[in-house]
Amino acid sequence: MPKCHFCDHNNPAGIDRCQNCGAWIEQKASSTSTDSGQQAEPSLEAQVLTLLEGGKKIVAIKLYRQQTGCDLKNAKDAVEALAAKHGIVSKGAGCAGVILAMVLACGVLGIGIWFVVA
Ligand SMILES: [Zn+2]
Repeated sequence: MPKCHFCDHNNPAGIDRCQNCGAWIEQKASSTSTDSGQQAEPSLEAQVLTLLEGGKKIVAIKLYRQQTGCDLKNAKDAVEALAAKHGIVSKGAGCAGVILAMVLACGVLGIGIWFVVA
């Protein structure tokens, strides 16, 4: 007879939730041992860090997306946050940002000139 430790209701054997108050009768030891699950394979964080250290930021973001199923922006933010947390300065990102800004600026400028000339 599993007795509920919340309301002292006597529940029939083989039940995992109290019939009276809905509390879990058994301590869910198996589901709380998340540590053992993480030890089975390198954690996502470790994999992402390895890729970041190798300068493979795009691959790291792709991996993060694969593993978590989140969208590109969230994955990018998470990877960049990880990099910042571990003091990894990604060389590519700054350059890419500058180049993107320049391309955009040139594009806007080009369109501006095109409008003036046309
Ligand atoms: Zn109960």
